[in-house]
Amino acid sequence: MEIEDKTLKLIGDSKDGVYQNELWKMLEIDSRKCSRVITKLMNANLIYRESAVNNGARTYLIKVVKPEEESFDLLLAGEMFSPCAGCRLACQPEICELLSTWINQIKMEDEVEKDEE
Ligand code: SF4
Repeated sequence: MEIEDKTLKLIGDSKDGVYQNELWKMLEIDSRKCSRVITKLMNANLIYRESAVNNGARTYLIKVVKPEEESFDLLLAGEMFSPCAGCRLACQPEICELLSTWINQIKMEDEVEKDEE
């Protein structure tokens, strides 16, 4: 099972979500890799997270996006579908050109919308 699938299953199986500062230990990976996996799943709109405190430390509580909460609009920038959906590349969001191009497309759309208002 791919680490993304394993992560998604683990979070999905937990009723109230999983704290990020526990997730990487549960997955037996390091925290940096865990962050990359989380970013990838968030970019694919499969999970979301909110600020939280766990064991006195600031972290995030991560939950899966329920089907009724899914909005494919969030995965679309114009005609461009999120490059992260189904992506199997070694993920480094900070330097990913595909992601940057997609985000720039969203920015352009926002500017067009503002001009139209
Ligand atoms: S498109 Fe880039 S940021 Fe998105 S999952 Fe693939 S490698 Fe990661």
